[in-house]
Amino acid sequence: VSLILFPLISIFIAFMTYALLGRLGGPVSALKNAMGKKQFIPYLQPVVDGTNHEITGAEVLMRWQHPQLGLIPPYQFIPLAEETGLIVPMTRQMMAQVRDQFGPMAAELPANFHFGFNICASHFKDLTLVEDCKAFIDAFRENPIHLVLELTERELIEPSEITHSLFRALRRMGVLIAMDDFGTGHSSLAYLQQFHIDILKIDQSFIGRIGTDALAGHIVDNVIDLAKRLQMVIVAEGIETQKQVDYLAPYRLEYLQGYFFGKPADPSEFIEKWIRL
Ligand code: C2E
Ligand code: MG
Ligand code: MG
Ligand code: MG
Repeated sequence: VSLILFPLISIFIAFMTYALLGRLGGPVSALKNAMGKKQFIPYLQPVVDGTNHEITGAEVLMRWQHPQLGLIPPYQFIPLAEETGLIVPMTRQMMAQVRDQFGPMAAELPANFHFGFNICASHFKDLTLVEDCKAFIDAFRENPIHLVLELTERELIEPSEITHSLFRALRRMGVLIAMDDFGTGHSSLAYLQQFHIDILKIDQSFIGRIGTDALAGHIVDNVIDLAKRLQMVIVAEGIETQKQVDYLAPYRLEYLQGYFFGKPADPSEFIEKWIRL
């Protein structure tokens, strides 16, 4: 009898342990587990020249490639990843993936191609960011690229000694800093200067209301005017229609980004569509 009972009991115990761990695990360990399995992958969206609409770079956007649930968009996991600090190793892993995939084909990229990564505020306290940026830039020595770090205007960075020295190190390496979602947050001119913001990305909510909402048009006009006075490079994001392209044309913005030009795609599709045309 024990010959039959023993395996049954073992199976029962194993099952209970598994069920209990699953319950205790919850979303945080799901993120950790997914990171171990390299399920956070880069998608790339083209950024085009504001005048000739040719590709000039890409924004890297994280996706969770879940074995059962499919492709999970960032708003479903980035907030928790930021709260728990997991966003830092996740971002590092994703930067390494882009570096390893695109570095070897550097020669095929258009000259002065740029890669933009979204970096959360807490990551700007972590010195590994400097090493990772250096490794990224070094991988493209054959045909140098520009590395852009996008920080969202929604979470402001608290000035501290470590953050300032980190920004200095990044600047020395030629890393560019972009203020993402500009117009949705509360950054001041002082803040833009303090962190030497090179690029302003006008939030898509304003671009999306062009032509339908006079106020949004005024905001776009004023943000562009401000950015130009501060000699910042401007990116308009979320461009979906010809009407929006036409509205912005007289401003001769440096860069445009949006579904009108191209949606985010996985690296091989991106390469096929945009690099090896
Ligand atoms: P974001 O950095 O402002 O990125 C632009 C978002 O707008 C992307 O959404 C992109 O797919 C979407 N988009 C681009 N063009 C259009 C358009 O024409 N129409 C519309 N409706 N949407 C457009 P996505 O990939 O879902 O990312 C959402 C946000 O999640 C990002 O906004 C960024 O704040 C965050 N995020 C994405 N990847 C990362 C990451 O690796 N790290 C961190 N910290 N945040 C990330
Ligand atoms: Mg961004
Ligand atoms: Mg944005
Ligand atoms: Mg956004």
